[in-house]
Amino acid sequence: MAFSPAFLDELNNRNPIEDVVGQYVALTRKGSNLFGLCPFHGEKTASFSVAPEKGIFYCFGCHKGGGVVNFIMEIENLSYPDAVRFLAKRAGLEVPEDDSNQSLYKKKERLWALCKEAARFFNNQLKTPAAAEVRAYIAKRGLTNSTVTRFGLGFAPNTWSSLLDAMTAKGFTKEELLDAGLVLSNQNKGTLYDRFRNRLMFPIIDVRGNVIGFGGRVMDDSTPKYLNSPETIIFNKRRNLFAMNVVKKSKQGFIILTEGYMDAIALHQYGFDCAVASLGTSLTQEHADMLSKYTNEVVLTYDGDAAGQNATQRAIPMLEKTGLRVKVLRMQGAKDPDEFLKKYGADRFRLLLQSSENQAEYRLRSLQMKFDLSVDEQKVEFAKQAADLISTYSTGVEREIYGARAAEMAGLTADVMKIEINKAFKRRMAISKKAQDKKDLEISATRQPRSREIRYDNMRSAIAEENLLRMLLRQPDLFDRAKILEREYFSVPMFGRAFDALRRRWEDDLSVNPSALSELLTPEEMAHLTSILQKPDIPLPDAAFADCVRIISEEYRLANVSGISDLKEMQESLRRKKGYGGK
Ligand SMILES: [Zn+2]
Repeated sequence: MAFSPAFLDELNNRNPIEDVVGQYVALTRKGSNLFGLCPFHGEKTASFSVAPEKGIFYCFGCHKGGGVVNFIMEIENLSYPDAVRFLAKRAGLEVPEDDSNQSLYKKKERLWALCKEAARFFNNQLKTPAAAEVRAYIAKRGLTNSTVTRFGLGFAPNTWSSLLDAMTAKGFTKEELLDAGLVLSNQNKGTLYDRFRNRLMFPIIDVRGNVIGFGGRVMDDSTPKYLNSPETIIFNKRRNLFAMNVVKKSKQGFIILTEGYMDAIALHQYGFDCAVASLGTSLTQEHADMLSKYTNEVVLTYDGDAAGQNATQRAIPMLEKTGLRVKVLRMQGAKDPDEFLKKYGADRFRLLLQSSENQAEYRLRSLQMKFDLSVDEQKVEFAKQAADLISTYSTGVEREIYGARAAEMAGLTADVMKIEINKAFKRRMAISKKAQDKKDLEISATRQPRSREIRYDNMRSAIAEENLLRMLLRQPDLFDRAKILEREYFSVPMFGRAFDALRRRWEDDLSVNPSALSELLTPEEMAHLTSILQKPDIPLPDAAFADCVRIISEEYRLANVSGISDLKEMQESLRRKKGYGGK
């Protein structure tokens, strides 16, 4: 996936990072840098910085960082090439697609077109006599015509090749149908057949409006009840949520997370245009990150059964990690939102939403339900566990309020409960201080990168490599004095790759700046590199650069030629080895 360096330079020049970021974040200038509230994690004081002359951004809170392309990848949830295209479009630049790149994108475009045609085909099938049963089902579920149209629902006929025939007639190839996951191949006969048969079809549409796959619900007793498209080059379940394309325009101010399409669709029909559903997977961190880009608050409405409650418990920390406020809806008198809306209507659901518990309440009530509080022993045990739980709540006000509530549940006085919570709180503080001290010690001792994907195995060399790159980026003509270094000399592979690429740019008279590395390095590596560049510039003596070069090559020799210090000795050793082999 290579764009030419000249094109990427032009792209970076025409998209000044402060302008691009400025469209998402209000920035204020402090010295040569700009600061604002980080769009990637919840915060009240600005720890997100932009350095225009270096062309990079960095957040001191969540440690995300990189060039302008990385920023767009992160905030628009795009792949590297799509982020480049996004910025090219923004600046009115034509993208010179290279062959491999062009063919992948072309292929995606074909699959999007195919899925769109397939959705149209399924939708038309709804009007045929063969679809009587599915129409009856739609009516029974209370879906209106406008809902059917809005979500583009359809019917996959109960035959083996209706879709296959219709799509090949439209000029799509068998490979394309296989690649889109719409057909399967019969290994024995070598023939193809439709994946979706006799099902109510739900097109899955990404945030940019492309049809990327389908979900289908059976009309008979066959299994599985719900079948989704497999993962394809256009459909990634970990990154997509059903109805997100509609929800991103919602003005409700929160997003409702449901367990299935039917719940999400029912909510939309009843006026809650902010409901999404995951696609046959539990919520992933990628989903949580995406949600946090469109809202500040998420309401979980998973089923009341054990599986649904487990899913809720798993989702809460993932969502909170992104800075989202999380509320949990406790369904009363119905098993899911769809049933609730039918029984009681939208107004009652709105009331339920308003009374939905924040996660603090939810956790306390979940705990309460584990105990029989009419039994004294259980009361005591509940009070202990509740104190432990409440001591984790972050503000004093929360601890006070929920302490009083827990006391009420257990039939204890608020004071007794308060003492228990304080004890638990002090215990927790002591433990976390110890852990923090230990962590501080470890960090200062090893200076390991934050990202677990990057390891410093040779600390002496790694620190020299960090400093070398910082100096080179500030003063590229120093490359003249680093001629003896090669990419493999670097103990940290990403530094070697960065060095190599920057030196080639310098030799080709291209700009030497960190944002030029967005294509070569992973987002984690870019974030790590920017975190190094963000450290205050200490004026280094002239000799410092030579020291770095010397340390890197020394450590390389030590690691690779194990103690052999010169050529003569190396020859000796080789000769000795040969000698042994000959015996
Ligand atoms: Zn941040």
